[in-house]
Amino acid sequence: MPKHCSFCGRTENTNVEILEGVEATICRECALASLETFDESTEDIILQPNAVLKPHQIKEQLDKYVIGQEDAKKILSVAVYNHYKRIHSKSKVDIQKTNVMMLGETGSGKTYLMQTLAKILNVPLVIVDATSLTEAGYVGEDVESILEKLLKKANNDIERAQKGIVYIDEIDKLANQTKDGRKSTKDISGEGVQQALLKMIEDSEVTIGLGESMMSKRKVLLQTKNILFVCGGAFVGIQDLVKNRLTPQKSMNIGFQSTIHKIEPTVEYDKEISQQDIIEFGFIPEFVGRIPVIATLNPLTKEDLSQILVKPKNSIIKQYQALFRMDGVKLTFHQSAIEYIVEEAFKKKVGARGLRGVIERKMNELMFELPKQSDIKSYVITKETLTNPFHL
Ligand code: ADP
Repeated sequence: MPKHCSFCGRTENTNVEILEGVEATICRECALASLETFDESTEDIILQPNAVLKPHQIKEQLDKYVIGQEDAKKILSVAVYNHYKRIHSKSKVDIQKTNVMMLGETGSGKTYLMQTLAKILNVPLVIVDATSLTEAGYVGEDVESILEKLLKKANNDIERAQKGIVYIDEIDKLANQTKDGRKSTKDISGEGVQQALLKMIEDSEVTIGLGESMMSKRKVLLQTKNILFVCGGAFVGIQDLVKNRLTPQKSMNIGFQSTIHKIEPTVEYDKEISQQDIIEFGFIPEFVGRIPVIATLNPLTKEDLSQILVKPKNSIIKQYQALFRMDGVKLTFHQSAIEYIVEEAFKKKVGARGLRGVIERKMNELMFELPKQSDIKSYVITKETLTNPFHL
């Protein structure tokens, strides 16, 4: 009687080797796949509460998931390290909180960096959109709701919530009208929300409701002193403000207007963004002063996109391969397919967000069709598969 793999059901033949255990059998493919799974799950450092990872260890973990963004990863690793050192320190020196401002194009990995960091550090993370926030008294979410969400994420454990991370996305939408006429996109004052966030970001005790229904809600006090606040936004046009600041001004010269022509070095304006530029962009100095660390993310290149597709532990391709493996199909992406996906995603100008969209439909079709055909054991996706609607 031929042996079957207890995991994928494949039958032993000249191409399928089967190992026999006491009560189960396993084929070579499944054994290798399980090895990979075990290997990957043991690699991650699971932090004990109150343990502090060193910056290089934090970055090493980030590297497994986040492609590129070397500067931002280093800056965040140090900021987070100092933050948790500060929490656990008994030093009499009052160390300022290392709240972070992250600037980067949409889809460049700001939110993903925060999600990955929170996972590595084993702390609760709440992600909020600044555009949904309002000043107290207006209809909408007031800033206290952020802490309610954080407490929920921490399973109502106040201690854990008080050491969590709050990521406020689209923070640039709170900017006020600036000298160059840029308008706030909010109908109520962005400055009002900045003011409301101020106290929370620094150090305050906020009373929030704990519990699901209005009737059963009880009030608890949450301290924000040790909560790390990270703000993120695209800050479109901020490079112009940096450029103006760094470019020599015109000067008057005996009745003639002349410009001091200096050969301008190639400046990477993104790297020069300072708190001053963020104020100029439309933020109140008190707000900016409480967010001392600035990290800029680079726009993703085609090479980055290509790596994002294949390299991270949970890359899109690895996720599809895992899904197909469960049906006993070995899925491979030919280089032509990878190049096509990258080209199409790059055109969309939404960073890595565009990658999945390029293949989603076709992969869905395949995931519908292939399980019907139990004789298919491997499948190669080429550019042709993705571009020809009749190719399966
Ligand atoms: P942002 O917050 O900057 O607009 P996201 O972090 O939401 O962008 O990115 C969208 C998705 O793209 C993420 O969930 C992640 O899967 C992928 N991604 C973006 N940047 C990277 C990166 N540098 N490395 C790996 N994956 C990335």
